Amino acid sequence: MIFADVVIVPCEDYLQEHVDEALAKVLEPIGGLSFVKPGMKVAIKANLVSFMKPQSAATTHPALLCSLVKMLINLGAEVTVGDSPGGLYNKLFVGKVYSATGVYAVEELGGKLNWNFEQSEEHNDNALIAKDFLYTAYLKDFDAVIDFCKLKTHGMMAYSGAAKNLFGVIPGTVKPEYHFRYPNVMDFANMIVDLDEFVKPVLSIIDGVVGMEGNGPTMGTPRQIGIIGASLSPHKLDLAAAYIIGLRRENVPTLQAAYERGLIPASVKDMSINVDIDNFVIEDFKRIENYNSIIFKNELPGVLGKAFGGIVNKALCSVPVVSNATCIGCAKCEQICPAKAIHLRNNRPKIDRSQCIHCFCCQEFCPKGALSVKRPIIARILNK
Ligand code: SF4
Ligand code: SF4
Repeated sequence: MIFADVVIVPCEDYLQEHVDEALAKVLEPIGGLSFVKPGMKVAIKANLVSFMKPQSAATTHPALLCSLVKMLINLGAEVTVGDSPGGLYNKLFVGKVYSATGVYAVEELGGKLNWNFEQSEEHNDNALIAKDFLYTAYLKDFDAVIDFCKLKTHGMMAYSGAAKNLFGVIPGTVKPEYHFRYPNVMDFANMIVDLDEFVKPVLSIIDGVVGMEGNGPTMGTPRQIGIIGASLSPHKLDLAAAYIIGLRRENVPTLQAAYERGLIPASVKDMSINVDIDNFVIEDFKRIENYNSIIFKNELPGVLGKAFGGIVNKALCSVPVVSNATCIGCAKCEQICPAKAIHLRNNRPKIDRSQCIHCFCCQEFCPKGALSVKRPIIARILNK
């Protein structure tokens, strides 16, 4: 029987016995794994964003993945863990990501890792934005997909959780192209919600034992949050998890897009949650404040309104900034920038602001964390 929209349980560390206990508890009030039938093929879409060790708090922790794999195998399922990280979508590249993130551990328990790197072209008539898209084809071989994400800040989307995790069904090499195709943050958010609706995960789980604050989603700081959350809806789970780190629906583009489609209520207070969520809120969580421009791009009517919105948006929009002291001149940002807005001069990146589409791919994939998101002073003043 299902008796909560979202379930949150405390979990203080990644000791396997603690994680096993917490995961069993978090699944029970939403019907557990009752959908699993013997012989069923289940894919776990983890967040394996890059070559990051578990302690960096950028990826779904392997202890949690092991715990879920064990539970599913005990129920007779065939289980595969996969993701398409940023970068090449092939055996060599993704294999290195599997190594760094510690997910080979699932093989010792009878789980598999995905080695099918085919891509398929999909069409979704029901999509608002992403009607035609390239897809990581392995997911089509499964009876059910579980979305197992990580709780993090995000340069472009303010927050990364269950909805954003499913952007990982787009092959890594073409992800930058999607940023270029949908430079408006709400279009990008709607594209992600389209993907969520297409994949339709049967279950979404968030690893918030240790999340990431600050310069997320890859170069932020690990922060003890001490929770695992679960829901049948990725968006409801995000509404609750974002609230814990101080974000509301209107601060997170994917939540706003989900709300406009009637997928979530206006507020976390309108959902049934098994705990008093206010007891889990972290007041001083370091967020990336990069979301107020959404209002200007979407709410001003008419041609003049749009033009004015564009000017205001430009003045308020956060920008990537380089720390020359931390930069090693590797040129990765120049290679990844979908707008070709970055060029190295004297071994340091120079950003052409007129070309920048504020996707923050450079910030996400700089291996040294030399790029961060900066909010213009005027935006900070207006927000006060
Ligand atoms: S990716 Fe980072 S370290 Fe490399 S050149 Fe760009 S800013 Fe510098
Ligand atoms: S400079 Fe950075 S934020 Fe701007 S378009 Fe290029 S990758 Fe995206």
